[in-house]
Amino acid sequence: MPDAQEITAALHSIAQDFSTDVIARQKRSELDPADFKRLSQAGFLLTGVPAEQGGLWQGPDKSARPYAEMVRTIAHGDPSVALVASMHPAVTAFFLGVPEVDDAPAAWAQQRQWVIESARTAWWGTVTSEPGSGGDILRTKSVAKPHADQYLLSGDKHFGSGSGHADYMITTARVAGSELPELFFLENKDEPWDGSTGCLLTVPWDGMGMSSTQSHAFRFTDFPVTKAASTEVLTKVAPVTGQISNMLFTGVVLGVADNALAFAQSKLSGKTATMRGFEQSEWVKCQNELWLAEQAYEGALRAIEACEPDAALTAVRCKVTCAELIERALSRMSKVVGGASFSKAMPLAQWTQDVKALGFLRPPLPLAYDQLLG
Ligand SMILES: Cc1cc2nc3c(=O)[nH]c(=O)nc-3n(C[C@H](O)[C@H](O)[C@H](O)COP(=O)(O)OP(=O)(O)OC[C@H]3O[C@@H](n4cnc5c(N)ncnc54)[C@H](O)[C@@H]3O)c2cc1C
Repeated sequence: MPDAQEITAALHSIAQDFSTDVIARQKRSELDPADFKRLSQAGFLLTGVPAEQGGLWQGPDKSARPYAEMVRTIAHGDPSVALVASMHPAVTAFFLGVPEVDDAPAAWAQQRQWVIESARTAWWGTVTSEPGSGGDILRTKSVAKPHADQYLLSGDKHFGSGSGHADYMITTARVAGSELPELFFLENKDEPWDGSTGCLLTVPWDGMGMSSTQSHAFRFTDFPVTKAASTEVLTKVAPVTGQISNMLFTGVVLGVADNALAFAQSKLSGKTATMRGFEQSEWVKCQNELWLAEQAYEGALRAIEACEPDAALTAVRCKVTCAELIERALSRMSKVVGGASFSKAMPLAQWTQDVKALGFLRPPLPLAYDQLLG
Protein backbone atom coordinates (compact mmCIF):
# COMPACT_ATOMS: atom_id res chain seq x y z
CA MET A 1 0.00 0.00 0.00
CA PRO A 2 1.35 3.49 -0.80
CA ASP A 3 1.98 5.83 2.14
CA ALA A 4 0.75 9.43 2.46
CA GLN A 5 3.93 10.85 0.94
CA GLU A 6 3.76 8.59 -2.10
CA ILE A 7 0.07 9.38 -2.59
CA THR A 8 0.72 13.13 -2.32
CA ALA A 9 3.50 12.81 -4.92
CA ALA A 10 1.11 10.97 -7.26
CA LEU A 11 -1.56 13.64 -6.66
CA HIS A 12 1.00 16.33 -7.49
CA SER A 13 1.63 14.74 -10.86
CA ILE A 14 -2.14 14.40 -11.52
CA ALA A 15 -2.70 18.06 -10.52
CA GLN A 16 0.04 19.12 -12.94
CA ASP A 17 -1.82 17.32 -15.74
CA PHE A 18 -5.11 18.96 -14.69
CA SER A 19 -3.50 22.40 -14.63
CA THR A 20 -2.49 22.24 -18.30
CA ASP A 21 -6.20 22.46 -19.02
CA VAL A 22 -7.15 25.04 -16.40
CA ILE A 23 -9.37 27.36 -18.47
CA ALA A 24 -11.36 24.51 -20.01
CA ARG A 25 -11.80 22.99 -16.55
CA GLN A 26 -13.03 26.29 -15.15
CA LYS A 27 -15.78 26.33 -17.78
CA ARG A 28 -17.08 22.93 -16.71
CA SER A 29 -20.35 22.57 -14.87
CA GLU A 30 -19.95 18.83 -14.32
CA LEU A 31 -17.41 16.47 -12.85
CA ASP A 32 -15.46 14.05 -15.04
CA PRO A 33 -15.44 10.49 -13.62
CA ALA A 34 -12.01 9.95 -15.23
CA ASP A 35 -10.49 12.52 -12.82
CA PHE A 36 -11.74 10.60 -9.81
CA LYS A 37 -10.54 7.32 -11.26
CA ARG A 38 -7.04 8.81 -11.32
CA LEU A 39 -7.33 10.00 -7.70
CA SER A 40 -8.56 6.59 -6.69
CA GLN A 41 -5.69 4.86 -8.54
CA ALA A 42 -3.25 7.17 -6.74
CA GLY A 43 -4.57 5.78 -3.43
CA PHE A 44 -6.61 8.80 -2.25
CA LEU A 45 -9.56 6.63 -1.19
CA LEU A 46 -7.32 5.12 1.50
CA THR A 47 -7.94 8.32 3.48
CA GLY A 48 -11.16 6.51 4.50
CA VAL A 49 -9.39 3.39 5.77
CA PRO A 50 -7.56 3.05 9.13
CA ALA A 51 -3.78 2.63 9.02
CA GLU A 52 -3.99 -0.70 10.89
CA GLN A 53 -6.08 -2.01 7.97
CA GLY A 54 -3.71 -0.80 5.26
CA GLY A 55 -5.14 2.71 4.94
CA LEU A 56 -4.06 6.20 6.02
CA TRP A 57 -6.42 7.19 8.87
CA GLN A 58 -4.57 7.63 12.17
CA GLY A 59 -6.85 10.12 13.92
CA PRO A 60 -6.88 13.91 13.55
CA ASP A 61 -3.49 14.47 15.20
CA LYS A 62 -1.66 12.37 12.60
CA SER A 63 -4.00 12.65 9.60
CA ALA A 64 -5.13 16.30 9.51
CA ARG A 65 -1.90 17.56 7.96
CA PRO A 66 -1.34 14.90 5.27
CA TYR A 67 -5.04 14.96 4.31
CA ALA A 68 -5.18 18.77 4.08
CA GLU A 69 -1.98 18.77 2.03
CA MET A 70 -3.41 16.13 -0.33
CA VAL A 71 -6.49 18.18 -1.18
CA ARG A 72 -4.39 21.36 -1.37
CA THR A 73 -2.29 19.56 -3.97
CA ILE A 74 -5.37 18.46 -5.94
CA ALA A 75 -6.67 22.07 -5.85
CA HIS A 76 -3.51 23.14 -7.69
CA GLY A 77 -5.01 21.27 -10.63
CA ASP A 78 -8.78 21.67 -10.13
CA PRO A 79 -10.50 23.28 -7.10
CA SER A 80 -13.89 21.66 -7.77
CA VAL A 81 -12.36 18.18 -7.96
CA ALA A 82 -10.42 18.92 -4.76
CA LEU A 83 -13.53 20.04 -2.88
CA VAL A 84 -15.52 16.97 -3.92
CA ALA A 85 -12.58 14.68 -3.11
CA SER A 86 -12.19 16.32 0.32
CA MET A 87 -15.66 15.09 1.25
CA HIS A 88 -14.48 11.45 1.21
CA PRO A 89 -12.17 11.71 4.26
CA ALA A 90 -14.41 14.38 5.85
CA VAL A 91 -17.38 11.99 5.73
CA THR A 92 -15.76 8.61 6.41
CA ALA A 93 -14.34 10.25 9.56
CA PHE A 94 -17.88 10.10 10.97
CA PHE A 95 -17.36 6.34 11.19
CA LEU A 96 -13.60 6.03 11.58
CA GLY A 97 -13.53 8.71 14.28
CA VAL A 98 -15.73 6.68 16.64
CA PRO A 99 -14.09 3.28 17.20
CA GLU A 100 -16.47 2.33 20.03
CA VAL A 101 -19.93 3.28 21.31
CA ASP A 102 -21.91 2.37 24.41
CA ASP A 103 -25.43 2.05 23.03
CA ALA A 104 -24.94 -0.58 20.28
CA PRO A 105 -21.29 -1.73 20.36
CA ALA A 106 -21.55 -4.84 18.19
CA ALA A 107 -23.85 -3.36 15.54
CA TRP A 108 -21.72 -0.21 15.36
CA ALA A 109 -18.47 -2.22 15.01
CA GLN A 110 -20.02 -4.23 12.17
CA GLN A 111 -21.37 -1.15 10.36
CA ARG A 112 -18.14 0.80 10.86
CA GLN A 113 -16.18 -2.10 9.32
CA TRP A 114 -18.62 -2.23 6.40
CA VAL A 115 -18.01 1.50 5.77
CA ILE A 116 -14.24 0.95 5.93
CA GLU A 117 -14.43 -1.87 3.36
CA SER A 118 -16.62 0.28 1.08
CA ALA A 119 -14.24 3.26 1.35
CA ARG A 120 -11.45 1.32 -0.35
CA THR A 121 -13.25 1.51 -3.68
CA ALA A 122 -16.32 3.75 -3.25
CA TRP A 123 -16.51 7.53 -2.91
CA TRP A 124 -18.35 9.07 0.04
CA GLY A 125 -19.94 12.52 0.18
CA THR A 126 -22.63 14.37 2.08
CA VAL A 127 -26.00 15.92 1.36
CA THR A 128 -26.82 17.15 4.85
CA SER A 129 -27.48 20.90 4.52
CA GLU A 130 -31.06 22.10 4.43
CA PRO A 131 -32.52 25.33 3.06
CA GLY A 132 -33.17 27.74 5.94
CA SER A 133 -30.93 25.87 8.42
CA GLY A 134 -27.90 28.10 7.85
CA GLY A 135 -25.77 24.95 7.85
CA ASP A 136 -26.80 24.00 11.41
CA ILE A 137 -27.75 20.31 11.44
CA LEU A 138 -29.57 20.77 14.74
CA ARG A 139 -32.14 22.72 12.74
CA THR A 140 -32.91 19.81 10.43
CA LYS A 141 -36.57 19.54 9.48
CA SER A 142 -36.12 16.26 7.62
CA VAL A 143 -37.72 13.20 9.14
CA ALA A 144 -36.84 9.52 8.87
CA LYS A 145 -39.34 6.84 9.77
CA PRO A 146 -38.59 3.14 10.22
CA HIS A 147 -39.54 0.86 7.36
CA ALA A 148 -38.60 -2.84 7.28
CA ASP A 149 -34.83 -2.96 8.03
CA GLN A 150 -34.26 0.59 6.76
CA TYR A 151 -35.66 4.11 7.23
CA LEU A 152 -37.52 6.37 4.81
CA LEU A 153 -36.26 9.96 4.54
CA SER A 154 -38.44 12.97 3.70
CA GLY A 155 -37.17 16.52 3.47
CA ASP A 156 -35.35 19.16 1.42
CA LYS A 157 -31.57 18.97 1.19
CA HIS A 158 -29.14 21.14 -0.75
CA PHE A 159 -25.44 21.66 -1.55
CA GLY A 160 -24.74 17.93 -1.93
CA SER A 161 -21.26 18.27 -3.44
CA GLY A 162 -20.39 15.32 -5.65
CA SER A 163 -24.03 14.32 -6.23
CA GLY A 164 -24.11 11.79 -9.05
CA HIS A 165 -20.46 10.99 -8.40
CA ALA A 166 -20.40 9.83 -4.77
CA ASP A 167 -21.50 6.25 -4.20
CA TYR A 168 -22.69 7.00 -0.67
CA MET A 169 -23.90 10.26 0.85
CA ILE A 170 -24.34 10.83 4.55
CA THR A 171 -27.23 12.94 5.79
CA THR A 172 -29.15 13.79 8.96
CA ALA A 173 -32.82 13.69 9.95
CA ARG A 174 -35.06 13.46 12.98
CA VAL A 175 -36.53 10.18 14.12
CA ALA A 176 -39.71 10.31 16.19
CA GLY A 177 -38.77 9.94 19.86
CA SER A 178 -35.12 11.05 19.43
CA GLU A 179 -34.14 14.38 20.94
CA LEU A 180 -31.24 15.03 18.55
CA PRO A 181 -30.95 14.48 14.78
CA GLU A 182 -29.47 11.16 13.74
CA LEU A 183 -26.93 10.12 11.13
CA PHE A 184 -27.93 8.22 7.97
CA PHE A 185 -26.45 7.34 4.63
CA LEU A 186 -28.09 6.90 1.25
CA GLU A 187 -27.34 5.94 -2.33
CA ASN A 188 -28.84 8.30 -4.89
CA LYS A 189 -26.10 8.29 -7.54
CA ASP A 190 -27.96 6.07 -9.98
CA GLU A 191 -31.52 7.18 -9.15
CA PRO A 192 -33.54 8.86 -11.92
CA TRP A 193 -33.78 12.14 -9.86
CA ASP A 194 -37.27 12.78 -11.29
CA GLY A 195 -38.99 12.00 -7.99
CA SER A 196 -40.31 8.63 -9.18
CA THR A 197 -38.19 6.80 -6.60
CA GLY A 198 -38.42 9.47 -3.89
CA CYS A 199 -35.42 11.58 -4.98
CA LEU A 200 -36.24 14.75 -6.92
CA LEU A 201 -33.53 17.09 -8.21
CA THR A 202 -34.91 20.53 -7.25
CA VAL A 203 -31.95 22.86 -7.97
CA PRO A 204 -29.07 21.69 -10.19
CA TRP A 205 -25.85 23.31 -8.94
CA ASP A 206 -25.20 26.60 -10.74
CA GLY A 207 -22.48 28.07 -8.48
CA MET A 208 -20.38 30.99 -9.72
CA GLY A 209 -17.56 29.37 -7.74
CA MET A 210 -16.68 25.69 -7.36
CA SER A 211 -18.80 25.44 -10.46
CA SER A 212 -18.36 21.78 -11.38
CA THR A 213 -18.92 20.32 -7.90
CA GLN A 214 -22.47 19.13 -8.72
CA SER A 215 -23.59 20.48 -5.33
CA HIS A 216 -27.23 19.88 -6.21
CA ALA A 217 -30.40 20.34 -4.15
CA PHE A 218 -32.93 17.51 -3.75
CA ARG A 219 -36.34 16.84 -2.28
CA PHE A 220 -36.53 13.41 -0.71
CA THR A 221 -39.91 11.76 -0.22
CA ASP A 222 -39.87 8.43 1.60
CA PHE A 223 -36.44 7.73 0.14
CA PRO A 224 -34.68 4.66 1.62
CA VAL A 225 -31.75 5.44 3.92
CA THR A 226 -29.61 3.43 6.32
CA LYS A 227 -29.41 4.67 9.89
CA ALA A 228 -26.13 4.74 11.80
CA ALA A 229 -26.22 1.83 14.23
CA SER A 230 -25.45 4.13 17.16
CA THR A 231 -27.37 7.22 18.22
CA GLU A 232 -24.28 8.57 20.01
CA VAL A 233 -22.23 9.08 16.86
CA LEU A 234 -23.01 12.69 15.98
CA THR A 235 -22.20 13.90 19.48
CA LYS A 236 -19.11 11.74 19.89
CA VAL A 237 -17.63 12.47 16.49
CA ALA A 238 -18.07 16.26 16.46
CA PRO A 239 -14.57 17.12 17.82
CA VAL A 240 -12.94 14.71 15.33
CA THR A 241 -14.82 15.80 12.21
CA GLY A 242 -14.51 19.43 13.34
CA GLN A 243 -10.73 19.15 13.14
CA ILE A 244 -10.58 17.11 9.96
CA SER A 245 -13.18 18.90 7.83
CA ASN A 246 -12.11 22.44 8.75
CA MET A 247 -8.51 21.64 7.84
CA LEU A 248 -9.50 19.82 4.64
CA PHE A 249 -11.67 22.70 3.42
CA THR A 250 -8.98 25.22 4.38
CA GLY A 251 -6.44 23.10 2.50
CA VAL A 252 -8.55 23.20 -0.67
CA VAL A 253 -8.88 26.98 -0.58
CA LEU A 254 -5.21 27.52 0.27
CA GLY A 255 -4.47 25.46 -2.84
CA VAL A 256 -6.56 27.89 -4.89
CA ALA A 257 -4.75 30.82 -3.24
CA ASP A 258 -1.41 29.21 -4.22
CA ASN A 259 -2.61 29.13 -7.83
CA ALA A 260 -3.71 32.76 -7.72
CA LEU A 261 -0.50 33.98 -6.11
CA ALA A 262 1.66 32.19 -8.69
CA PHE A 263 -0.47 33.67 -11.48
CA ALA A 264 -0.25 37.21 -10.06
CA GLN A 265 3.49 36.92 -9.52
CA SER A 266 3.95 35.92 -13.15
CA LYS A 267 1.74 38.81 -14.34
CA LEU A 268 3.53 41.35 -12.15
CA SER A 269 7.04 40.04 -12.73
CA GLY A 270 9.34 42.99 -13.50
CA LYS A 271 6.51 45.49 -13.05
CA THR A 272 6.47 46.12 -9.30
CA ALA A 273 8.84 49.08 -9.49
CA THR A 274 6.60 50.87 -11.97
CA MET A 275 3.33 50.11 -10.21
CA ARG A 276 1.38 53.04 -8.82
CA GLY A 277 1.39 53.63 -5.06
CA PHE A 278 -2.09 52.14 -4.63
CA GLU A 279 -1.12 48.99 -6.54
CA GLN A 280 2.10 48.55 -4.54
CA SER A 281 0.24 48.97 -1.27
CA GLU A 282 -2.54 46.53 -2.26
CA TRP A 283 0.02 44.01 -3.48
CA VAL A 284 1.92 44.07 -0.19
CA LYS A 285 -1.33 43.82 1.79
CA CYS A 286 -2.44 40.91 -0.40
CA GLN A 287 0.79 39.04 0.28
CA ASN A 288 0.56 39.83 4.01
CA GLU A 289 -2.94 38.39 4.15
CA LEU A 290 -1.92 35.21 2.36
CA TRP A 291 1.07 34.90 4.69
CA LEU A 292 -1.20 35.33 7.71
CA ALA A 293 -3.58 32.68 6.34
CA GLU A 294 -0.64 30.30 6.04
CA GLN A 295 0.31 31.00 9.68
CA ALA A 296 -3.27 30.31 10.81
CA TYR A 297 -3.27 27.01 8.89
CA GLU A 298 0.12 25.98 10.31
CA GLY A 299 -0.88 27.05 13.84
CA ALA A 300 -4.11 25.05 13.73
CA LEU A 301 -2.33 21.97 12.40
CA ARG A 302 0.19 22.21 15.24
CA ALA A 303 -2.61 22.53 17.80
CA ILE A 304 -4.25 19.40 16.34
CA GLU A 305 -0.94 17.53 16.28
CA ALA A 306 -0.33 18.46 19.93
CA CYS A 307 -3.84 17.15 20.80
CA GLU A 308 -4.65 20.49 22.45
CA PRO A 309 -8.01 20.23 24.25
CA ASP A 310 -9.56 23.05 22.19
CA ALA A 311 -8.03 21.94 18.87
CA ALA A 312 -11.47 21.57 17.24
CA LEU A 313 -12.29 25.19 18.04
CA THR A 314 -8.85 26.25 16.81
CA ALA A 315 -9.63 24.50 13.52
CA VAL A 316 -12.86 26.53 13.23
CA ARG A 317 -10.92 29.71 14.02
CA CYS A 318 -8.40 28.77 11.34
CA LYS A 319 -11.13 28.16 8.75
CA VAL A 320 -12.89 31.45 9.49
CA THR A 321 -9.64 33.42 9.53
CA CYS A 322 -8.43 31.89 6.29
CA ALA A 323 -11.83 32.37 4.61
CA GLU A 324 -11.83 36.09 5.40
CA LEU A 325 -8.13 36.69 4.70
CA ILE A 326 -8.02 34.79 1.43
CA GLU A 327 -11.21 36.30 0.03
CA ARG A 328 -9.87 39.78 0.83
CA ALA A 329 -6.40 38.96 -0.51
CA LEU A 330 -7.75 37.77 -3.86
CA SER A 331 -9.94 40.82 -4.14
CA ARG A 332 -6.85 43.02 -3.66
CA MET A 333 -4.91 40.83 -6.08
CA SER A 334 -7.55 41.44 -8.76
CA LYS A 335 -7.17 45.20 -8.41
CA VAL A 336 -3.40 44.96 -8.81
CA VAL A 337 -3.41 42.49 -11.71
CA GLY A 338 -6.04 44.61 -13.48
CA GLY A 339 -8.13 43.59 -16.46
CA ALA A 340 -6.76 40.04 -16.52
CA SER A 341 -8.81 39.41 -13.40
CA PHE A 342 -12.01 39.98 -15.33
CA SER A 343 -11.13 37.97 -18.42
CA LYS A 344 -12.54 34.47 -18.77
CA ALA A 345 -9.40 33.69 -20.76
CA MET A 346 -7.43 34.11 -17.50
CA PRO A 347 -7.97 31.90 -14.45
CA LEU A 348 -7.96 34.56 -11.71
CA ALA A 349 -11.62 35.58 -12.02
CA GLN A 350 -12.81 32.03 -11.37
CA TRP A 351 -10.34 31.41 -8.53
CA THR A 352 -11.58 34.63 -6.87
CA GLN A 353 -15.06 33.08 -6.84
CA ASP A 354 -13.84 29.61 -5.82
CA VAL A 355 -12.19 30.84 -2.61
CA LYS A 356 -15.51 32.29 -1.38
CA ALA A 357 -16.68 28.71 -0.82
CA LEU A 358 -14.64 28.47 2.40
CA GLY A 359 -16.91 30.97 4.17
CA PHE A 360 -19.99 28.91 3.29
CA LEU A 361 -18.66 25.43 3.95
CA ARG A 362 -19.59 23.86 7.28
CA PRO A 363 -19.59 25.56 9.65
CA PRO A 364 -20.66 28.56 7.52
CA LEU A 365 -19.46 31.93 8.87
CA PRO A 366 -22.55 32.83 10.99
CA LEU A 367 -22.53 29.41 12.67
CA ALA A 368 -18.74 29.46 13.06
CA TYR A 369 -18.92 32.85 14.79
CA ASP A 370 -21.56 31.46 17.19
CA GLN A 371 -19.22 28.56 17.98
CA LEU A 372 -16.28 30.89 18.59
CA LEU A 373 -18.35 33.16 20.83
CA GLY A 374 -19.74 30.19 22.75
C1 LIG B 1 -19.46 25.17 -2.71
C2 LIG B 1 -20.24 24.61 -1.57
C3 LIG B 1 -20.20 23.26 -1.32
C4 LIG B 1 -20.96 22.72 -0.28
N1 LIG B 1 -20.94 21.37 -0.10
C5 LIG B 1 -21.76 20.81 0.81
C6 LIG B 1 -21.89 19.39 0.89
O1 LIG B 1 -21.21 18.63 0.19
N2 LIG B 1 -22.80 18.88 1.76
C7 LIG B 1 -23.57 19.66 2.55
O2 LIG B 1 -24.38 19.13 3.30
N3 LIG B 1 -23.48 21.02 2.50
C8 LIG B 1 -22.59 21.59 1.65
N4 LIG B 1 -22.50 22.97 1.56
C9 LIG B 1 -23.41 23.78 2.39
C10 LIG B 1 -22.76 24.43 3.58
O3 LIG B 1 -22.21 23.44 4.43
C11 LIG B 1 -23.80 25.27 4.34
O4 LIG B 1 -24.78 24.44 4.87
C12 LIG B 1 -24.50 26.24 3.46
O5 LIG B 1 -23.58 26.96 2.70
C13 LIG B 1 -25.34 27.20 4.31
O6 LIG B 1 -26.03 27.99 3.41
P1 LIG B 1 -26.75 29.35 3.79
O7 LIG B 1 -25.92 30.10 4.78
O8 LIG B 1 -27.10 30.03 2.53
O9 LIG B 1 -28.06 28.95 4.58
P2 LIG B 1 -29.29 28.11 4.13
O10 LIG B 1 -30.24 28.29 5.25
O11 LIG B 1 -28.85 26.73 3.83
O12 LIG B 1 -29.83 28.78 2.80
C14 LIG B 1 -30.38 30.12 2.81
C15 LIG B 1 -31.30 30.30 1.65
O13 LIG B 1 -30.62 30.21 0.37
C16 LIG B 1 -31.39 29.44 -0.53
N5 LIG B 1 -30.52 28.76 -1.49
C17 LIG B 1 -29.46 28.02 -1.20
N6 LIG B 1 -28.92 27.51 -2.33
C18 LIG B 1 -29.63 27.97 -3.34
C19 LIG B 1 -29.54 27.81 -4.75
N7 LIG B 1 -28.60 27.06 -5.33
N8 LIG B 1 -30.46 28.44 -5.50
C20 LIG B 1 -31.41 29.20 -4.93
N9 LIG B 1 -31.53 29.38 -3.61
C21 LIG B 1 -30.67 28.77 -2.82
C22 LIG B 1 -32.10 28.45 0.36
O14 LIG B 1 -33.27 27.95 -0.23
C23 LIG B 1 -32.40 29.24 1.62
O15 LIG B 1 -33.64 29.89 1.56
C24 LIG B 1 -21.74 23.55 0.55
C25 LIG B 1 -21.75 24.93 0.32
C26 LIG B 1 -21.02 25.47 -0.72
C27 LIG B 1 -21.06 26.95 -0.96
